[in-house]
Amino acid sequence: MACIVPEPDTHMLSSNKFFPGKYLGILVETAYRQLVLCPSDSNWQPASRAELVTILQRVGMLGQLVTSAIPDRFLIGDAFMQLFSFMGCAPSIEFTPKDLHNIDWLEFVFIQLSPAQARPRWRVDKESAKPACPHCQRRIPAWIQHYHANDMILTCPHCKQSEHACRWRWFDAGACARQFVSIVNVFPKESMPTETVLLQLQQETGVPWHYFYLHAPLFTD
Ligand SMILES: [Zn+2]
Repeated sequence: MACIVPEPDTHMLSSNKFFPGKYLGILVETAYRQLVLCPSDSNWQPASRAELVTILQRVGMLGQLVTSAIPDRFLIGDAFMQLFSFMGCAPSIEFTPKDLHNIDWLEFVFIQLSPAQARPRWRVDKESAKPACPHCQRRIPAWIQHYHANDMILTCPHCKQSEHACRWRWFDAGACARQFVSIVNVFPKESMPTETVLLQLQQETGVPWHYFYLHAPLFTD
């Protein structure tokens, strides 16, 4: 398989074609390729950030902070390569920064923990998502035309039912959750969580976990 070389990438929020005008005034934020893990129960959250770190370190996927200056970005853990499968040119993937004093956050795989959310947040890869209607189960590739941003409602063009985006099925392109764990700088399908790691997360948290791929800025709010 040919190697995919990640290119530095930016996400121009001010020209977001799906929500024109919504982000006017905000300049450029870096978009990262992410494999995002989250609990299937969108209301689950850890008791604290420390508890989440302990769980992920016990599973073996999370290492130490990349730098003490940034408290939400971690190196991969000792068991990471057994817990995630990599295709293609995995041996060429970097897992540590080359220069700790001038970190290039696009050059190596790291893990980022989202802030805890007061209520479930919807994260979606707008380009690749083909969600399924919770009523008629039909998939809607052109969903964005039927999305009402103000109340986050999607109206099915087939059965005409309207539901909040969190009630639709987003498969491997999005989810609603109060806690997200991102494996950053992996391309879609380049890396997948094994059943083992999903099962271990379920055992540790009491809820099933799933995953999706995202090309977007990191979750920092
Ligand atoms: Zn429908």
